Amino acid sequence: MNVGPAGLTANLWALIRAQALARHWELSDAMFAEIDGFALVQGWAISRHRSRHVYRDPRFDRVVLCCTCGGDGKGEGGRACRTCKGDGLLNFFEPPRRGAGA
Ligand SMILES: [Zn+2]
Repeated sequence: MNVGPAGLTANLWALIRAQALARHWELSDAMFAEIDGFALVQGWAISRHRSRHVYRDPRFDRVVLCCTCGGDGKGEGGRACRTCKGDGLLNFFEPPRRGAGA
């Protein structure tokens, strides 16, 4: 392989950049290790970025605003909404509750 001084310099900078990036990710992993471990135990989803980690509980995907009351939990006459029992939210993965609401 025939590489001139300009090519060698470019390769050297690429190598330094790659190593710096790898060190950055290692440092990020070390900094967030405890929090990431907690999130994994809780079953949260983790979005890893260079300098921040975003945690999200996937159970929020199951919850939507009640379509009957619009999320305020109030039904006719100031009583609790009959659909969501006054919660304002509906969870599609939980069976409906029996009995009186709230
Ligand atoms: Zn409702």
